[in-house]
Amino acid sequence: MQKKELKHMEKLLKSRKDILLKEFEERVRKYRDAVSEKAADIADIASSSSNEVLEIAVAEEDAKELKQIEDALARIKAGQYGVCEQCGQVIKKARLKAIPFATLCVVCKEEEERECDVKAFRERAEEIADRPVNMEFDEIDTRRLGKKISELERDDNRN
Ligand SMILES: [Zn+2]
Repeated sequence: MQKKELKHMEKLLKSRKDILLKEFEERVRKYRDAVSEKAADIADIASSSSNEVLEIAVAEEDAKELKQIEDALARIKAGQYGVCEQCGQVIKKARLKAIPFATLCVVCKEEEERECDVKAFRERAEEIADRPVNMEFDEIDTRRLGKKISELERDDNRN
């Protein structure tokens, strides 16, 4: 990736980071207000605490993204940005434009997702057969996995 493009990505990542940090500050401020309100009106505790649960869930998502952004910024500094962590190939620009903090190329990402599918299928198959499955899963056409799982589930329901 060229220097100019790296600068652009860095700017993009930093502005996203700023937005997330502002949202975070806003949330802390709101939380403080809620706490002082709570002290004033104890009857509101139930409703405000359920909102807080939601706020915390959102905050965790933001914190995850913030971490990914900071990792990406660190990779830019280290000169490793845009290189797949798995295979070392250059990650396509279109992919980085869509996901600026991507660490895997499309091929490795798909591979990772396929592994998840195979794992899910294997677990499901073992569950249904109630014994270890001795199949070579790597050779299974993974595009059919979804279909296979639903077939297995149908069989399972019939039994
Ligand atoms: Zn890769």
